Amino acid sequence: MSYLLLFLIFCFIVWLYLRFSTRIPILMYHRIADIPGDRNSLPVEKFIEQLEYLYHNGYQTVTMNDVYMHYTKQKKLPTKSVLLTFDDGYKDNYITALPLLKKYKMSAVVFPISNWIGRENQWEDFHKAATLTMTLDELKSWQKNGMEIASHTVNHPFLSTCKGSQLQAELLESKNYLSKELNTSIDFLCYPYGNFNKETMLIAKNVGYKAAFAIFDQVPLWNINLFALPRIQISSRQSLNEFKLKVSKIHTIFIVMRQLERWIKNLRQK
Ligand SMILES: [Zn+2]
Repeated sequence: MSYLLLFLIFCFIVWLYLRFSTRIPILMYHRIADIPGDRNSLPVEKFIEQLEYLYHNGYQTVTMNDVYMHYTKQKKLPTKSVLLTFDDGYKDNYITALPLLKKYKMSAVVFPISNWIGRENQWEDFHKAATLTMTLDELKSWQKNGMEIASHTVNHPFLSTCKGSQLQAELLESKNYLSKELNTSIDFLCYPYGNFNKETMLIAKNVGYKAAFAIFDQVPLWNINLFALPRIQISSRQSLNEFKLKVSKIHTIFIVMRQLERWIKNLRQK
């Protein structure tokens, strides 16, 4: 009987692995800078450590369209594929991250906020360290260096609180502005704070985006939804071992376990 149970557990694990191992890890970065206490600012030494790990272990960066084609047309991607994304379009992404990405032959996506290009980061009052965002010229240069750009709305609102014409404007005007100024097609969207609802997904699809990125703890993981692609936060507090797990074939299983852990923590606090 116990052998049967072990066999069933083994089959379940194999089945889980087969189901999730084709998922592409999509990493979410913000700033590459040493800002003590800010988990969204990754010190450059840690970023180099991560790029070194990816480079020396056969990981290859893919594009947003690769991921889209993988999920819609079953496009074959390298076994160790990873998509790197940077939220908000900080200047340090251009100054610090870009030369390193090139050094390690990697590509990445940046999500600038169309109303906050080449400005100080004052779209939110979260007591964050003051810094600048990339200018239009820097974004153009970012692209010329083989990197990608997608939309992160006009003003960085919580999209689930936006209604009707405001929601439409946040999604469409940012798309139109970036595609006009950068002379490129803007096909992908990243939800500020990973915040969205059914209406957000519907309007995003209607205004012409092919897919949208969210954050792993706010999306259902069982099935892939193109308008709620899960991303994994890369925090300044995590160890290299945690990073290795986050880009591994079992990263989705790791994420499910983290979701479970949070759920239990929340239950205990109630
Ligand atoms: Zn953001």
